[in-house]
Amino acid sequence: MRDFPTSEARLRGFREALRGWFLRERRDMPWRRERSVYRTVVSEFMLQQTQVDTVRPYFENWVAKWPDFATLAAADEADVLRAWEGLGYYSRARNLHALAKEIAARGGAVPADADGWRAFRGVGAYTAAAIASIAQGVPAAVTDGNVVRILARLSADETEFRDGGAAVKRFAPEAEKLLDPARPGDHNEAMMELGATMCTKRNPRCLLCPVAAFCDGRALGEGVAALPRFAARATKKVDVERAFARFADGSVLLAKPHASARRLRELFELPLWSDVFPDASPRAADLLLEGKRGIASESIRERIYAGAPPKDFAEKKTLSGAALFRVPAGELEKITLSGPHRKWLRAIRGR
Ligand code: SF4
Repeated sequence: MRDFPTSEARLRGFREALRGWFLRERRDMPWRRERSVYRTVVSEFMLQQTQVDTVRPYFENWVAKWPDFATLAAADEADVLRAWEGLGYYSRARNLHALAKEIAARGGAVPADADGWRAFRGVGAYTAAAIASIAQGVPAAVTDGNVVRILARLSADETEFRDGGAAVKRFAPEAEKLLDPARPGDHNEAMMELGATMCTKRNPRCLLCPVAAFCDGRALGEGVAALPRFAARATKKVDVERAFARFADGSVLLAKPHASARRLRELFELPLWSDVFPDASPRAADLLLEGKRGIASESIRERIYAGAPPKDFAEKKTLSGAALFRVPAGELEKITLSGPHRKWLRAIRGR
């Protein structure tokens, strides 16, 4: 592949075109209105694997409730998880909480560079570079899927990568070369913005793109949308059966997964059918809801069946190691549920 860009003059031209466009066109986001290290850290944790529009209300609610590291550090974990509910990947909330506690314990002192941020659990190379560059002006380039896509297209790189990690490894040095050392935060945000609004996965808007003059991929016409190339990945199909068992007083059986499922610790979910009714299969006629979701390389189909709650129910450990609880109707909106379980529970109870 060709290295990009090929001369100092082109490099300067690229940075100026990108930043000029970004300053004119950037989208309004709550974390851009007022900058601080804390607000940048919170937004970057929330934006890991989650869309900007989903994050907006969570971010505003979060910083109103806990405006700095000290207040977040003093918060109860249950409150922290509750404020995160619906964003998914709860380990991010726990890691953010732990980070705030550590910074509070250091009297508010924060790391001075990307390597320092990486020492915190849950902060990878991308998040560390984003925090250090955006909030602290440290010259560290971000390389994520957006940046990889832009760089593969700018350089018309037709390599087939094994996976995203291999592509990030390939393009991280290019991203560092491209970085504007005088304004690393603007540059990184501009790259993310370009990837989100112009150089999008399926329909790159090359005619409007501010760096089109620097892009070799344009010569491929519509074919540029196929870059970067990735080897096809096999998806594993998984079927899960769950139970919705409601008592006469409206209380519902819910489970907390086995303690080894760290990611789900302290979160409730609809129990596995086999945990509630180990000796009976669900009947097709009792199907209440079917949900599909993808996690990593798994395509999961979850079916939720109605079942009469056991008469002599007592809170207990189950076959899978999960713990079953009878949660009173009045508590159902207060507890924290994992992933899509809140949506499912509301849909079933509202029937
Ligand atoms: Fe992406 Fe098209 Fe811009 Fe090239 S010209 S960077 S392919 S949007």
